[in-house]
Amino acid sequence: MALAFDEYGRPFIIIREQEQKTRLRGLDAQKANISAGKAVARILRTSLGPKGMDKMLQSPDGDVTITNDGATILEQMDVDNQIAKLMVELSRSQDYEIGDGTTGVVVMAGALLEQAEKLLERGIHPIRIAEGYEMASRIAFEHLEHIAHKFEFSETDVEPLIQTCMTTLSSKILPAFGSGNSVNRCKRSMAEIAVKAVLAVADLERKDVNLELIKVEGKVGGKLEDTELIYGIVVDKDMSHPQMPKQIEDAKIAILTCPFEPPKPKTKHKVDIDSVEKFQTLREQERKYFDDMVQKCKDVGATLVICQWGFDDEANHLLMHRNLPAVRWVGGVELELIAIATGGRIVPRFQELTPEKLGRAILKLLDRNKMMIEETKRSLHDALCVARNLIRNKSIVYGGGSAEISCSIAVEAAADKYPGVEQYAIRAFADALDAIPMALAENSGLQPIETLSAVKSQQIKDNNSCCGIDCNDVGTNDMREQNVFETLIGKQQQILLATQVVKMILKIDDVISPFDY
Ligand code: ADP
Repeated sequence: MALAFDEYGRPFIIIREQEQKTRLRGLDAQKANISAGKAVARILRTSLGPKGMDKMLQSPDGDVTITNDGATILEQMDVDNQIAKLMVELSRSQDYEIGDGTTGVVVMAGALLEQAEKLLERGIHPIRIAEGYEMASRIAFEHLEHIAHKFEFSETDVEPLIQTCMTTLSSKILPAFGSGNSVNRCKRSMAEIAVKAVLAVADLERKDVNLELIKVEGKVGGKLEDTELIYGIVVDKDMSHPQMPKQIEDAKIAILTCPFEPPKPKTKHKVDIDSVEKFQTLREQERKYFDDMVQKCKDVGATLVICQWGFDDEANHLLMHRNLPAVRWVGGVELELIAIATGGRIVPRFQELTPEKLGRAILKLLDRNKMMIEETKRSLHDALCVARNLIRNKSIVYGGGSAEISCSIAVEAAADKYPGVEQYAIRAFADALDAIPMALAENSGLQPIETLSAVKSQQIKDNNSCCGIDCNDVGTNDMREQNVFETLIGKQQQILLATQVVKMILKIDDVISPFDY
């Protein structure tokens, strides 16, 4: 393949050896792409909702992951079809922006593709379908705002936030423990930790939360109940010398990314030592150099040194002797967190050293085995994201597919107003929205079509957009009573992202790939 430029300077690609490539064009290309996208969505469909199934994935080196988190499943699936990769990206974007709804967004995209396939077969041009989908997604987007509710909580009343985080935690790892008092207590304490951690770093006035200030640390060997929140930094390192103090009140920390030792001769330098005296002098000079460094730290008032680099035993001994506690080999990310939390600055050159101070929130986690730690971390991440999203924007829509059903009704009703071919695509979009409640019903062992039509007619009859699928067989369809909801921005994002990806897939009409592909 070669890159060339035409007379206007626009780049184009010259493909040699055409006969060695496979090439799909027009409808064939779209159909092949759609079936690849649908295949990915089909895998995730059974994982959707509170009764969703888990997937077990084994990596090439034997590590096993059990999860029902859409983003994680796709991340580990190692797909090599380009369209399937787009679906992986789709889930990742949802995870990045919102942190929740990663399965739903892929199922939605799959449903849109399925409907598009039917329209293509009826001879509707892909661009028309893409335009219709775009219109429909805007209708759904606005309708969501229309049916949104306000989620009430305040700094003094955080109970609703805790309840929400508990709901998020329940669909992930915690069911694996079965049910019972201890599990519930554990769920509650994990939810409290998530909320407290988020509030500790939240700026309620600006409605902003920087989740990077919260670190989730896993430790093999403890119990889930041992999880605790630490307002501070957890650095999994010991002091460089066992006799250095374990606790320092009001520590003033020098954060160094430069080596904390005398300069070592590199291979291109040569030091000639031919007598004992010369060797002694060199040692003395090195010692003095390091001594000066220690003195410099002391002069600026540092009582603790945290260093990205190591120092040798002799330097360590000297530090101990000069009463300057130190921690060595601290990773770059941790150094940054320490700097943020302590209000300190990272010092890249020794000459720039100035004194710094302490502060802020960090989470520490203790648990039993590695597989559990990872899944617990993921569900905590979800809970943290939900709390953050609610602080950013208090609007919510009800879950259990109720928001999708309500949007589907609105989109279907709007379709009649469009005179062109687009109305077919808009109706198809409405049908695709129904796929979410259908998947929820199916995964909970209910009859999908009967359940959906019953709930839909109930929504229209009672004019109640909160009717959804009663997945847990609680006895009511009203998701407001069940307290099952999702954030408005999360749901809107799902619809926008799914539509964009599907539009992108529909617009591809030529697939050129290497022969062995
Ligand atoms: P995602 O990764 O997309 O968040 P989940 O497996 O967490 O996927 O499922 C989310 C879906 O399940 C949402 O549509 C949500 O409304 C629905 N859901 C969650 N809990 C319940 C419940 N208790 N009853 C009914 N639906 C629920």
